Amino acid sequence: MASSLYESLGVPKNASQDEIKKAYRKLARQYHPDKNPGDAAAEERFKEVQTAYDVLSDPEKRKQYDTFGSANGRPEPGPTNVDFDLGDFDLGDIFGGLFGGARGGRGGQQQRGQRGNDVEVEVRISFEDSLQGVQTTVPVTLDLACHTCHGTGAAPGTAPTRCPQCNGSGVVASSQGLFALQQPCPRCHGSGSIVETPCPTCHGSGRERRTKRYSVKIPAGVKDGTRIKLKGKGEAGYGGAPAGDLYVVTRVEASKLYERRGDDLVLDVPVSFDEAAMGATVEIPTPDGRVSLKVPAGSADGKLLRVKGRGTPKLKEHGRGDLLARVRVDVPKKLTKAQREALEGFRNASKSNPRERLFS
Ligand SMILES: [Zn+2]
Ligand SMILES: [Zn+2]
Repeated sequence: MASSLYESLGVPKNASQDEIKKAYRKLARQYHPDKNPGDAAAEERFKEVQTAYDVLSDPEKRKQYDTFGSANGRPEPGPTNVDFDLGDFDLGDIFGGLFGGARGGRGGQQQRGQRGNDVEVEVRISFEDSLQGVQTTVPVTLDLACHTCHGTGAAPGTAPTRCPQCNGSGVVASSQGLFALQQPCPRCHGSGSIVETPCPTCHGSGRERRTKRYSVKIPAGVKDGTRIKLKGKGEAGYGGAPAGDLYVVTRVEASKLYERRGDDLVLDVPVSFDEAAMGATVEIPTPDGRVSLKVPAGSADGKLLRVKGRGTPKLKEHGRGDLLARVRVDVPKKLTKAQREALEGFRNASKSNPRERLFS
């Protein structure tokens, strides 16, 4: 087993994408199981080559491998971020508070070429807007590339120079007994370059804290806690690496009428005792106008009646959820004389005891 993915492909660490591809093709042909039937060693080698190429052919994975020693060494912003295109931004699915600023942070200890931090910002929207979608402006305060030096940290007219201590590699070797350890260069803090004349705006950091206002289209159907990903709108990367992402988290105000259950909406519908017993057609509100609802005779309190397609728009597919009308039998607190007489007549006409089965 080779000790690095580069070794697996027999290429140097600074190999170009083209060289990696060529090496892979040659080795894959050589060790292909079709050419080496029954040869377990060749099969093992073929898998190794495949794995190495999967990582090194993907610039993003390769960078992570170079930095962290594995293709997935970096914690992703979340476990179930489902991205899909919605114009110029992506929509991420919901997850809890895993997001954090723990990664990276400002200061001199940045790894060379590290991607910018992700940023999370909340936006409050009304329940109605969550159903219809809304265009909104979100102010975000974050570290961006300095506008004077464009992120280099060097004063206008000058450029960063190669760090003499690490020769631009960003790392220095220190020997600890039997092991040689690579550590970030103390002179350039791992960036590989030093700034001799710092930019007057950012004092050499290349970064500038600014407030940006992004116009964000909130799609119809978002829930409280839905995360919308704006790729590359997070903090500036370090040493030319890509910027992080911006996550806009929707905070949806509660509705006075509806309770959200997935893509369905639950609405409590007060029904009088006689309507519940004998059945009735009643008018109820829905997010897009009134509809009539048939309450069947003999509806118990709590019964759910489904009104198809009157729920919330579905975020990831076409169509809408349903409205669930929940029967709430209204028991009068006071009775008029006429009502009392009518109910006494009802009682006299009733022969069965509703509690009979409790004692059988
Ligand atoms: Zn600057
Ligand atoms: Zn250095």
